[in-house]
Amino acid sequence: MLFSVGLSLVVLLSVVGAATVERVEYDYYKIPSNARDHRLMVQAVKDYPEVVTIVEYGQTYEKRTISLLKIGVNTGEQKKAIWMDCGIHAREWIAPAFCRTLSKRSFKTTQLDCGGRTDLNRNFNANWGTARVSFECCDNTFCGIKPVSEPEAQAVTYFVGNRKEDFLCFLTIHSYSKMLLVPFGHPNFIASNYDELKKVGRGAADAIRSVHGKDYTVGTSPDVMYANSGSSQDWARMQGIPLTYTFELRDDGTFGFELPQDQIQPTCEEAYSGALHIITYAHDKTFSGATATAATLWSMLLALGVTGTTLM
Ligand SMILES: [Zn+2]
Repeated sequence: MLFSVGLSLVVLLSVVGAATVERVEYDYYKIPSNARDHRLMVQAVKDYPEVVTIVEYGQTYEKRTISLLKIGVNTGEQKKAIWMDCGIHAREWIAPAFCRTLSKRSFKTTQLDCGGRTDLNRNFNANWGTARVSFECCDNTFCGIKPVSEPEAQAVTYFVGNRKEDFLCFLTIHSYSKMLLVPFGHPNFIASNYDELKKVGRGAADAIRSVHGKDYTVGTSPDVMYANSGSSQDWARMQGIPLTYTFELRDDGTFGFELPQDQIQPTCEEAYSGALHIITYAHDKTFSGATATAATLWSMLLALGVTGTTLM
């Protein structure tokens, strides 16, 4: 259902998704199980080796492999790509649920118990340590002992940074507060394409509202929430990736991180609509007039559950 919308855009994703639903019994709108996720992941690669690839791009704090799912035809050529990660903050379990429904398959690399771990979304090399962070390792906003001190942040930095010119979008999925955040988290910095980011973000919020009537606020962190520094979104924008957004999914705080199961489906549906708006914009801007061959020109990279920190 979600993927019929994206047929013209992410063709390969839709093919994979449709076929998976038939092959594997899996309810994407229940709190998922890691073992089944992994099975689905392996099954996807078996079934569609020409479309789906598992890319190992780093290791976690616990030395477990971090993988991502690459969806796209392997043409042997360097292509443009969309980055999407979900689950950088483990307790925001609705975020990976969204990536699972987006990809219709998923994988899980690690699930740690947290105790004094670094907040990865304060650990990137983007005005690191300058706004609303803690240098106390027991605090929720502990930004690490230095920029990119954490292996999970290193892995993203290395993987994305090595081909940053190929990325059109960098979408990082979090919860909660129903917001679409644009760079930058530090109030003293403004993105060079701030107007574009806001405009596209508002379009995405409109798309979200049209699905289940939920209002998502669009703006920079300091404008709509609070300042921060060292986020992956800010880092990605500073690398030159033009369209970088942080999705803060439902809800408003009634349930907070423990979003009830019956809200998974509507949350994913509306978030998909918002993400699709951004991806479509990026696509059209980059490949105007090349729709027919777009599938061979780009791919999607979904990094799910990259860490196990339990921080916000
Ligand atoms: Zn988060």
